[in-house]
Amino acid sequence: MSDKQQDKQRKKNKRKKRPPEPGEEFMAKIVSLCKRRGFAFQSSEIYGGLQSSYDYGPLGVELKRNIKDEWWRSMVHSREDVVGLDAAIIMHPKVWEASGHVSGFSDPLVDCKECKNRFREDHLVPDDEGNLRCPECGGELTEARQFNLMLKTHLGAVEDSSSVAYLRPETAQSMFVDFQTVQAAGRLKLPFGIAQIGKSFRNEIVVEHFIYRSREFEQMEMEYFVEPGDDEKWYEHWRRERFEWYSRLGVRKENLRLRDHEEEERAHYAKACTDVEYQYPWGWGELEGIANRTDYDLTHHAEASGKKITYFDPQTNKHVVPYVIEPAAGVDRSALMFLIDAYCEEPAPEGKKEGRVVLKFHPRLAPIKAAVLPLVRKDGMPERAREIVKEFFRHSVNAFYDEKGAVGRRYRRQDEAGTPYCITVDGQTAEDGTVTIRERDTMEQERIKVDEAVRVVRDRLATALD
Ligand code: ATP
Repeated sequence: MSDKQQDKQRKKNKRKKRPPEPGEEFMAKIVSLCKRRGFAFQSSEIYGGLQSSYDYGPLGVELKRNIKDEWWRSMVHSREDVVGLDAAIIMHPKVWEASGHVSGFSDPLVDCKECKNRFREDHLVPDDEGNLRCPECGGELTEARQFNLMLKTHLGAVEDSSSVAYLRPETAQSMFVDFQTVQAAGRLKLPFGIAQIGKSFRNEIVVEHFIYRSREFEQMEMEYFVEPGDDEKWYEHWRRERFEWYSRLGVRKENLRLRDHEEEERAHYAKACTDVEYQYPWGWGELEGIANRTDYDLTHHAEASGKKITYFDPQTNKHVVPYVIEPAAGVDRSALMFLIDAYCEEPAPEGKKEGRVVLKFHPRLAPIKAAVLPLVRKDGMPERAREIVKEFFRHSVNAFYDEKGAVGRRYRRQDEAGTPYCITVDGQTAEDGTVTIRERDTMEQERIKVDEAVRVVRDRLATALD
């Protein structure tokens, strides 16, 4: 297409501007808050940004860490039967041949013949006549072709077919490839699990909804190995447990659901699969998948590597190939979901001018646990407040000191960051050794002993998860 033709096309597309997506206005507020307050923003912004990559700022990095810590706490640190792994992102290329990713990890790609935009065919909704058209300009689409989602690279100085490697598209395969080593090292008995949190990469055809779908993202996956025959019982167990994890962390139940996959939707290796879905502003979307992967992966890696990958059962004196149940969650999708679910706009109370935006995060997920504020910048208040902050740090509680601006404004800034507790040092502190503690959600304040501030916050954090 010549420049002139392209220009004409652009003008035509503009005229046919698509209607706004459901929830677009709400998402714009979330994206703006995320940038303004330093949760997450476009990567490489000074160079125009890279559409598919995001950076997490000071509040975002804490939110993500807390999500990962909560996951690790529930999946590894509160169970005797699950151990952790931190495997390499770049694995032997044969791993991806054996796993079926080289031949089958692809999505159907279509191009619009008019505006040249690209889409995933399986994400398009047919029009009233049952035809698929371009959702941007209504144009005709090309035939679908399969597009492999793995990001390719080359290892070493020479770029030829022998140096091809892939950035892992899921963390799961290392748990299968390392199965024998981890099992032997930990002398693990069935049923047991191997858990991992780490980056994965997919060359997605379309990146969408901010950090919901990007090409670089983080996963939290656990492979739970069981005796064949016990798989259905454990599948049900993890299906329930993973749904409850989100609701224990305060996600509104009406926004969560489990959706079982239809047979034609299921991956070729899966006997059963269910998604934990969240009602995002644009509709229901996947947060996590729970799959019964059978013995598919272990069997295929054993065949391809020529190595025996089995579990020796000392009770029956037999080798078995375990079945595996996999809960696979996304850190970025969870972070976006927790932000959306926590977001509240509250009108100004009677007699007050300004309302507030508050992120009602579960206290365990809140990036800052306590903000410590001197009422004014004199009379020893800043010094006393800084001592309290130090005390929080000594007890590994993330605290924040703020002395800038009117105290009401400072409270509102903390509400917007989702900070559950504000501790204020005022004139009375020097007299009777007390401070106020303000609850984010109720905005109620009470006086507590200054020496007890850290204990009170820690107790409330500890009891927040029943
Ligand atoms: P989708 O159907 O949305 O493409 P998927 O079924 O391919 O997702 P899985 O392979 O089951 O996803 O991956 C497990 C989890 O990893 C997902 O539930 C999601 O939370 C996360 N995830 C997968 N792809 C992406 C991505 N491109 N960006 C962000 N998170 C992702």
